[in-house]
Amino acid sequence: MKWNKRGRELDKRAEAIVKEFADRKQIVLFGAGQRGAELRKILEHYGIFGGFIDNDPVKQENGYEGAKVYSLEAFHERKITSWIAITASDSNVGVIAGQLENAGYKREADFWHYEEFIKDIFPILSFYFFQKLFVYLAQISVTERCTLHCKKCAHACHKVAMTADDMKLDMAKESADFFFRHVDVVNEFVLIGGEPFLYADLGELIDYIGRNYREKILTFAITTNGTILPSDEIVELCKRHRVTVRVSDYSDTIPKLQPRYDLLYDKLSEVEVIAWKTKKEDCWFDYGFEEVDRGGNVCQLVGAFDRCRTDCREIRGSRYYYCVMARTVPENMGWSIGVEDYLELKDLQDKKILFEYQQGFSEKGYVDLCRHCRGAEAPQFLIPAAEQTEKAKESQGCIQVQ
Ligand code: SF4
Ligand code: SF4
Repeated sequence: MKWNKRGRELDKRAEAIVKEFADRKQIVLFGAGQRGAELRKILEHYGIFGGFIDNDPVKQENGYEGAKVYSLEAFHERKITSWIAITASDSNVGVIAGQLENAGYKREADFWHYEEFIKDIFPILSFYFFQKLFVYLAQISVTERCTLHCKKCAHACHKVAMTADDMKLDMAKESADFFFRHVDVVNEFVLIGGEPFLYADLGELIDYIGRNYREKILTFAITTNGTILPSDEIVELCKRHRVTVRVSDYSDTIPKLQPRYDLLYDKLSEVEVIAWKTKKEDCWFDYGFEEVDRGGNVCQLVGAFDRCRTDCREIRGSRYYYCVMARTVPENMGWSIGVEDYLELKDLQDKKILFEYQQGFSEKGYVDLCRHCRGAEAPQFLIPAAEQTEKAKESQGCIQVQ
């Protein structure tokens, strides 16, 4: 979206939301499952979680992870005025929205679908009602070197030589400093790569962020491809600062990675570090960076950007990138586009400018990479996950595995 009223872009909408929320006071989540549990954590941080509604009689009877679970009838009978966010799986959202409408609730007045709630409503509520700048997901890419060479790496890390420089530790610390100077709550703050366990200063960075900013982070995570066993020191620091290690499981495409995952999980569980065993990734979206060209029509590019609404922000020194791929892909491919597609935080005086940028506003209304990216259409283009480049295959696959 293009800025029209920079610094006042969302004021009017926010006024209505804040006024309404002052009467509602709480949010109830329709769908007591994984998505509901994640949103519950955010709402509890703000003290506005009002329980669950769920159609499952067992959950209604027993509750869900210690929380009250209403049937829709019970919720309705008690005349509870809380807002409702639908946190059911995508396939059930339509049915639940229908149930709510049949019971007299109105969309965008009484209830919201998850995506619109977490991307639009909640950040406004957080900023204007609680005076807290909320970010859903932000990353520091500490290295773009990687032990795997995936053909369709979304950060184009397969183009980065193993001899390339990593981010300097001072810059990594400065990135965190600039981010948390302005941001009050981040749902997930991730150290990412490339392969972050290649980063020589990872321990010191975890400790720095953990000591200085941990209370602003709901989930502090490292995303790894699982090929490197972290040192005892790193594992200990992960435990101390409650870092979640999320392992991208590519064993469907590269079966020989499975024993490495097992070793990693064993090591993490020995000291009770939280590990997210993601389900095996068998396919990825193909963003089509090397094939797509939407042309230079600004309206089309703004349209592509607005439809996309990616969650993945990046902080790199004092530069805040709306789309992490819009920085990494051109840089790692050697393309001279997108070099100014960031918000400079160094001299930022008005926090609202960052809030609006975070919500998708900018001078251009898009980033250069949108021209070469399928964005919202990417889920229609599936490819096998983690297929290795020919160069990697010639070297018997995952060539850099240690
Ligand atoms: S594991 Fe593959 S997708 Fe992940 S950063 Fe490395 S090359 Fe990219
Ligand atoms: S480059 Fe792609 S992922 Fe990034 S904002 Fe544009 S369409 Fe979305």
